[in-house]
Amino acid sequence: MPREDLYAQMYRVDVDKVRAVKRALTGKTTCPNCGKVNPADKRICKACGMRLYPVEEENDRMYLLEKLKGKDE
Ligand SMILES: [Zn+2]
Repeated sequence: MPREDLYAQMYRVDVDKVRAVKRALTGKTTCPNCGKVNPADKRICKACGMRLYPVEEENDRMYLLEKLKGKDE
């Protein structure tokens, strides 16, 4: 099972949101179509033009980011 799926189960959230946090932490995102690593702030793959990830809510991303960093807010 991919680690993103594991986190999604642990925190009972959508796996897309876990991927969003991973992007924020690593500064990178991998294209689901061709596998090319793109900067996290890019929404379109520079190699194949595929949309890299769905639009997520900023609040959700920050919430999860804090959880994964182990902070209580
Ligand atoms: Zn691509």
